[in-house]
Amino acid sequence: MARYVYDFAEGNKDLKDLLGGKGANLAEMTRMGLPVPPGFTITTEACRAYLRTGSVPAGLFAEVQEHLRLVEARMEKTLGAPRDPLLLSVRSGGKFSMPGMMETILDIGLTDASVQGLAEQSGDERFAWDSYRRLIQMFGKTVFGVPGEDFESELAAARAGAGVASDAELPVAQLRDLVQAYKKVFQHHTGRDFPQAPHEQLFLAITSVFQSWNAERAVLYRRQERIPQDLGTAVNVMAMVFGNRGPDSGTGVAFTRDPATGRRGAYGDYLQNAQGEDVVAGIRNTVGLQELAELDQQSYRQLLSVMERLEQRYRDLCDIEFTIERGKLWMLQTRVGKRTAAAAFVIAAQLVDEGTITLDEALQRVTGEQLAQLMFPSFDISAAPPPLTTGVPASPGAAVGEIVFDSAHAAAADRPVVLVRPETNPDDLPGMIAAQGILTSRGGKTSHAAVVARGMGKTCVCGAEELRIDLAAETVTVNGTVLHAGDVLSLDGTTGRVYPGAVPVHPSPVVRYFEGELSPANDPLLAAVQRLMTHADHTRRLGVHANADTGPDAARARRFGATGVGLCRTEHMFLGERRELVERLILADDDTERDAALAALLPLQRADFVELFEAMDGQPVTVRLIDPPLHEFLPALEDLTARVARAEALGQDPGHDGVLLTAVRRMHESNPMLGLRGVRLGLVIPGLFAMQVRAIAEAAAQRVAAGGDPRPEIMVPLVGAVQELETVRTEAEAVLQAVEGIPRIRIGTMIEVPRAALTAGEIAHAAEFFSFGTNDLTQMTWGFSRDDVEGAFFGRYLSLGIFAVSPFETIDAGGVGELVRIAVERGRAARPDLTVGVCGEHGGDPASVRFFHRAGLDYVSCSPFRVPVARLEAGRAACTADSSDSR
Ligand code: PEP
Ligand code: MG
Repeated sequence: MARYVYDFAEGNKDLKDLLGGKGANLAEMTRMGLPVPPGFTITTEACRAYLRTGSVPAGLFAEVQEHLRLVEARMEKTLGAPRDPLLLSVRSGGKFSMPGMMETILDIGLTDASVQGLAEQSGDERFAWDSYRRLIQMFGKTVFGVPGEDFESELAAARAGAGVASDAELPVAQLRDLVQAYKKVFQHHTGRDFPQAPHEQLFLAITSVFQSWNAERAVLYRRQERIPQDLGTAVNVMAMVFGNRGPDSGTGVAFTRDPATGRRGAYGDYLQNAQGEDVVAGIRNTVGLQELAELDQQSYRQLLSVMERLEQRYRDLCDIEFTIERGKLWMLQTRVGKRTAAAAFVIAAQLVDEGTITLDEALQRVTGEQLAQLMFPSFDISAAPPPLTTGVPASPGAAVGEIVFDSAHAAAADRPVVLVRPETNPDDLPGMIAAQGILTSRGGKTSHAAVVARGMGKTCVCGAEELRIDLAAETVTVNGTVLHAGDVLSLDGTTGRVYPGAVPVHPSPVVRYFEGELSPANDPLLAAVQRLMTHADHTRRLGVHANADTGPDAARARRFGATGVGLCRTEHMFLGERRELVERLILADDDTERDAALAALLPLQRADFVELFEAMDGQPVTVRLIDPPLHEFLPALEDLTARVARAEALGQDPGHDGVLLTAVRRMHESNPMLGLRGVRLGLVIPGLFAMQVRAIAEAAAQRVAAGGDPRPEIMVPLVGAVQELETVRTEAEAVLQAVEGIPRIRIGTMIEVPRAALTAGEIAHAAEFFSFGTNDLTQMTWGFSRDDVEGAFFGRYLSLGIFAVSPFETIDAGGVGELVRIAVERGRAARPDLTVGVCGEHGGDPASVRFFHRAGLDYVSCSPFRVPVARLEAGRAACTADSSDSR
């Protein structure tokens, strides 16, 4: 028969799956001989059986009875006995901690009869009646869903009746009356009397903890923390010890190191003459742990020695909950403690110094997400007003500036500005570069605003749908507040919150360290980051390249540790003053006009590449031929139509606008993302790709002549069939051959159309390298428009649990990832020396980096600011030490 109950003495810390985190750690402390009140744990398996069938598994309560008898024997008391009752606490505890999400019930075993016994035995009538009223309140709320306010209002009435300000001052008589009043509240809501059988109380409490696994807030929390929904919770039943037995009693929480900074030394809070729930409720102010030394020197010393032993056992920062009952210390909980990102790095390095863990283990104690957090400037939230609204947190950081509604104003501004747009397009680039942050009302994490902002390391909140932006009136209205151009906004790209006014900002010291502006010499955090990054670089197999389009971006990426440019999107080179040339190209009626426009673009492109190759000298630079549809470089259809209509209404000749409008109409596409872009453009617009290839080759020749070591590669976007690539390749090779003094330039392709992944074996014959464009590959595999869906319905999909995280953020391993695996396998089978990388947004996402490591890629490429994150995660992926998951 299945076994569902384990005495604390039977488990250990490695049994978290079965006993939950709390139960496993209570067992470990019991085995270590630490002072843990006797008790037992009901397994997660029992909970899962309950959740599956809706009833408690057969035999469970008999097993509970058996283990209860052992506890009773050890305590020399009987549960709820009228003369000297044993009382129990019942607490939930899943594999991962879910603070405050699930249930706890204290003082099980108190009844009308045993409350008298407790009063007599403790010699403290007040304590006994106070415990009884706490039980009715907690039990009523948790097990039967009695509204908490009904108890609270009785409590307030009792305080008023007694003329006292705090619960602790309520005299016995009032507490007795309060118990009667609580029982009435209980009866009123449940239609039954408060249970007077101690075992019934216990069984009902256990069942309600099982049920609390599926409470709405618990489900939501797990979704956010990516904790699986099917684990179930264990239930810990433990003899009660009391911190509210007078001045020689109390309760506290403590950390073996400072969880905020990682500094060595015990940190914590203590509350004299109180139970744990009083600390949580914040009813009274706690004192620092050091003051316990003055109140109770012996318990304090014992506590410090327990904490030291726990650190040695867990080899990590531990947090604990303890109670002192009349001068006797009891340990109620321990676990590997949560900590800030900074503390995670500092503590990992300290533990290596102390000889407790290896560098490999230290690498598993920190995450790319934590490093990313450390790289953003941050707001001083304590000084922030309530947010105006919350959008999609698209590119982290803290930005403060005056509102501007168009790119030109942003670019011209002499003060910090925030660019506010319904959405952005390549035209807004100058304004985006100039602005501190970007706020849009439409679009998700792979919208233009989001991708470009992340690339620049610029704060961006997008898809803030509550914003009503009126570009003509230059106002933005949100929940009744109207803001004008020039009003100041603060954007938190990490949380998506938008604040009115200027919230104070701190720059990131970690970024300044990567930039070479700060030395790690006397800074424990920077020293820890340096040490772990060095080890990650030493350990990783994946290369880390950067998505960078300009010399300065490439140079920064290099400072941040990139060893190549994995994606240069050439389209930015078609903007600004060059748009006129692109217009000429599009409007060209014949070859001569087209050739003239291309010839004018050539030197400009060449100069861009020279700058880029110089910044990444000696390292590969993968230049992608132009990808977006050309009409993106023309004015918007609506604007042109309006301009032409206005001119015509005034009886004027619309002139050039009229010609442009005809072209825009001709080129209009219903689904431009699936239209004339990428390789298709190269095949349709004669000379366009050839001009780009020539610019690359001539730039390389120029760098070679200048003594440099340029290593360009040419990448063709959006290929779906090998024939497309072969055609472009033949043309490109002819161009390359005609340029003298260049290094060998490899030609490869993006794999971003599902057909390309499936036919990778054929495509590899024409490609020397693959780079997965996982933005488009995700879009086309799911059939999700990357510009629309995140703002439109992803919220609903996430809440339905269709996926736990947007597939545009973390690679969908089961679907898109499968195409990646297929393409790697078929590509390498056809061409064993094929280089394979990824340059979609996923290249800088920690979980995705680990996936790409497993899929056998050669490198990931990501925005310069994600380069350190990718280096760290690539190191973690390659190193086999066990991780310590402090969730
Ligand atoms: C991609 O699709 O993943 C990619 C890198 O290309 P882009 O985002 O420019 O379409
Ligand atoms: Mg793409």
